[in-house]
Amino acid sequence: MNASLDKIYFDYAATTPVDDRVVEAMLPYFTRQFGNPSSVHIFGQEAEAALEGARETIARLLGVSSSEIVFTGCGTESDNLALRGVAFERKLRYGADRILISPVEHHAVSHTARQLADHFGFRLEFLRVDSFGMVDPDYLQKIIDRDVAIVSVIHGNNEIGTINPVAELGQICRNYQVPFHVDAVQSAAHLPLKGLEDWCDLAAFGAHKFYGPKGVGALFIRKGTPILPMLTGGGQENGIRSGTQNVPYIVGMAKAFELAQTEGLKIHASLIQFRDRIISSVQDNIKGSHLTGHPTLRLANHASFVFEGVDGNQLLILLDAAGFACSSGSACKTGDPKPSEVLLAMGISPPLALGSLRVTVGKYTTQEDVEKFVSVLPLLVHKIRKMSLELKGR
Ligand SMILES: *Cc1c(COP(=O)(O)O)cnc(C)c1O
Repeated sequence: MNASLDKIYFDYAATTPVDDRVVEAMLPYFTRQFGNPSSVHIFGQEAEAALEGARETIARLLGVSSSEIVFTGCGTESDNLALRGVAFERKLRYGADRILISPVEHHAVSHTARQLADHFGFRLEFLRVDSFGMVDPDYLQKIIDRDVAIVSVIHGNNEIGTINPVAELGQICRNYQVPFHVDAVQSAAHLPLKGLEDWCDLAAFGAHKFYGPKGVGALFIRKGTPILPMLTGGGQENGIRSGTQNVPYIVGMAKAFELAQTEGLKIHASLIQFRDRIISSVQDNIKGSHLTGHPTLRLANHASFVFEGVDGNQLLILLDAAGFACSSGSACKTGDPKPSEVLLAMGISPPLALGSLRVTVGKYTTQEDVEKFVSVLPLLVHKIRKMSLELKGR
């Protein structure tokens, strides 16, 4: 199904193709059923029914009330709304001015927290992670108090695949009545999320990570969580996110989420088989290679490495020329030669961190794709090492 025939896509953590059934579900809402859900007439009523149907679908799959789901423009916006909205409101109401995040967050969280600290008087503090990039609950327990405005932790890590112990972290937050936000943008495609209100107060989602369209997201906000709207205007989305809703994309997101949380979870075993084939083949065939992230508590589709003596960007270029679309870790870092903060936080040295590679499979990946890849990768790594030795020798 790859768009560019004979190219193999191994970057499902960056984005996914939209499932045909999702496109199908969206189409009527661009044309025949184009109404504004806020309008009183029949066109508006039809759009509103579609919007509320989508909201109920997502709420049902999460086991929450539909009034706890707010649609946004993307995963990034959901993270921004959670952090900024809750931080401002908790500071206004209770004077809580500390923000605790892990050092392995997506930039949608870490740069938002940084801005809150630099421009809005919040004190930003980082939780601890181990060498797998997993957040340490004991350390959270040690530093949390009522003066914390919000705690934010990534569920399934986009760069290193590690799955965090969110239930345990959430329980600690709840003991102090501190809102706990989870970035579930990656995990939505791979982990069952029903009952998430037992362990978090907010959770961010983005449709294009689970075979839905780009440019639409959602935020779960548990009832009673203090939050200041970040977009003000017509009062849509319960007054929390004004702006006319993108009905076709929201309908698509709900359809995609339903597919992800039902049949998507059923292909887990085959994704894990592909993932582990890639991991073991790299470990067996490439000297000076290291798996990054947790060996087993990781996203089903996610393999990530660092290679000694290899420039990760150079490797990506050679892979691309050989027909494989991979990533160095995070799509947002393209063109940025600085080592990943996530890898540094796990104790990986800066030169080694520059040799990173992320390979993420998905529902359209085949065994043949994987075999082709594992046969080519060692040759490319070897080629880069040889080239850099030759350059040094001159
Ligand atoms: C992709 C991603 C985001 C951002 O989502 P967009 O919809 O692309 O804005 C946030 N967090 C994580 C973990 C992601 O993987």
